[in-house]
Amino acid sequence: MHIGLPDPTRNGALAPAVLIVGSGPAGLFAACALLRHGVMPRIVERLLAPHGETRGTALQPAVLEILDRAGLIEPFLRAAVRIRQVQLLGPHLQEIATAKFAGIGCKYEFQCSLPQWRTEAILREHLARLGVKIEYGTEVRAIEEDPDGLRVMLESGGRSETFTTAYVLGARTASRAIRCRSISRGRPTTVDTLLQT
Ligand SMILES: Cc1cc2nc3c(=O)[nH]c(=O)nc-3n(C[C@H](O)[C@H](O)[C@H](O)COP(=O)(O)OP(=O)(O)OC[C@H]3O[C@@H](n4cnc5c(N)ncnc54)[C@H](O)[C@@H]3O)c2cc1C
Repeated sequence: MHIGLPDPTRNGALAPAVLIVGSGPAGLFAACALLRHGVMPRIVERLLAPHGETRGTALQPAVLEILDRAGLIEPFLRAAVRIRQVQLLGPHLQEIATAKFAGIGCKYEFQCSLPQWRTEAILREHLARLGVKIEYGTEVRAIEEDPDGLRVMLESGGRSETFTTAYVLGARTASRAIRCRSISRGRPTTVDTLLQT
């Protein structure tokens, strides 16, 4: 079952009920979570292609638990180095602190270390298997409310598109502009419930 809005430009097919802005880890994981609950999102990304940067490398035990619940843990365990102890050193290699993950009472008593580009690639591969294509080179320029939903102005390769959807999920770091306007419209619908699980 897929949830969406009637879209006259799609031959009667439903338009995705959720537009995800940004294909960083947050947007990609949100898409995976929505799909688990039968919500097919549309993902737009203004970059022309995925980045290849190391960025955030540590997946903490709590994140691993979340990935496990989402049925996504295996590729991360295969791709990552397991960090079982973290040691902070000061001048002259003097130990400041040591933290061990053993005995923390979690199924994953380690951090998974892998480059962020790899984390994103794993999530993208999962989405691709489920038929979700990320629309690169597509930027959200504005969002307006109208009686049918949220009207989103998109721009891609010099072409403009207007897309109406029920929810816009602004999955972009430090972007007050979209985050503020992307909260669901406050209707207690199925999607609200699903996002909380
Ligand atoms: C150089 C660098 C080094 C970093 N190093 C570390 C580190 O060592 N440790 C650590 O924990 N974290 C690090 N970070 C931070 C980490 O990368 C972020 O916390 C993480 O990427 C946040 O994920 P996200 O999905 O929320 O947002 P992002 O990864 O920022 O993804 C948001 C995406 O939204 C897209 N986007 C934005 N606006 C629009 C729009 N209007 N339309 C369409 N698409 C849009 C952007 O192009 C971007 O791809 C680093 C970040 C950078 C840039």
